[in-house]
Amino acid sequence: MTDPKSVCEGPVGRRIRSLRAQISGSRLTGLVVTHLPNVRYLSGFTGSSGVLLVEPDRATLFTDFRYETQVAEELSASVAARIVEGSTWAALSSWLEASPPGRRLGFEAARLSVAEHGQLTASCGSVIWEPTENVVERDRAVKDEAEIVSIEAAVALADLVLGTLLEQITVGVTEAELAARLEYELRSAGSGSLPFEPIVAFGERTALPHAKPTERPLAAGELVLLDFGASIDGYCSDMTRVFTVGSAAAWQRDIHQEVLAACEAGIRAVGPGNLCASVDAATRNQLAKAGLAERFGHSTGHGIGLEVHEAPRLHRDAKDSLEVGNVVTVEPGVYLPGRGGIRIEQVVAVQPDGSRVLTRSSPELIEL
Ligand code: ZN
Ligand code: ZN
Repeated sequence: MTDPKSVCEGPVGRRIRSLRAQISGSRLTGLVVTHLPNVRYLSGFTGSSGVLLVEPDRATLFTDFRYETQVAEELSASVAARIVEGSTWAALSSWLEASPPGRRLGFEAARLSVAEHGQLTASCGSVIWEPTENVVERDRAVKDEAEIVSIEAAVALADLVLGTLLEQITVGVTEAELAARLEYELRSAGSGSLPFEPIVAFGERTALPHAKPTERPLAAGELVLLDFGASIDGYCSDMTRVFTVGSAAAWQRDIHQEVLAACEAGIRAVGPGNLCASVDAATRNQLAKAGLAERFGHSTGHGIGLEVHEAPRLHRDAKDSLEVGNVVTVEPGVYLPGRGGIRIEQVVAVQPDGSRVLTRSSPELIEL
């Protein structure tokens, strides 16, 4: 039977209800949400300044007059707005001082500066504060259908832009020029603000996993590594592809084949109930067969959603398991300092029957 509440409350209402259920098991009576992606997730508000207080019987967004119109347009009916004058923290404090004493509220310990924590706790004397971690993030890791549609649209947009960019990867173009063109094409094709600055690296610089684009020009026969993403409705995509200008050398082709095999092994390990650490082990073990595990120094992947890096993390020490609704990247890489590196990154959704790769661009080595 369908819960009549869930029919009319919309996604934000469901999320707030889930959050209340999650914290009702603790001693908390509410949560002060300060991390902006969490505020967006729980209210619909996309502004750059605001604090959300979720209590058992109400949810209230505190923000200032700059966002008055935006709040009216974006805020879910499940959340009330308080447009404050002056400091948001001061307004929140006086709001809490007016509520019954002895209340136990959580705050997002990893999301507050020391100064903000001081402001929050100094003037709300009657509140007992408890640090929390990953409360909203845990819920955000499991996407609903609409969220997956948005991620899929962001993935498709990046796929489309990659196709249009290929003819611009020519001898003599610099990393910085190509990065600028990539950013322009992404925004022109409809991406919201980019989830991160694209990584564009040529030649031996592809061995730097987080290379910053430089004025280095592209020469014939070199590797080209692009790692970039788009955003649609706030939801991100993330992809990495490698090309050669002209025919690939044997070592480039060999390493690409090994990384591709590792990526495929990782994707096969993605499924409901599977340990995140086992996906990491799958890519690493595959590379170990080729003696390349030592040259793979980062984790296998990360969840993706309103943030480009979010739960669940696919690393060797991760304790959690995957569940239906998780969307993760699988991105093994091999890096040979002074020579070059290859990484292949796919976005994968966890489904009841296993997984589905959302990225459509071919992961094969493209020889331009
Ligand atoms: Zn990436
Ligand atoms: Zn990534």
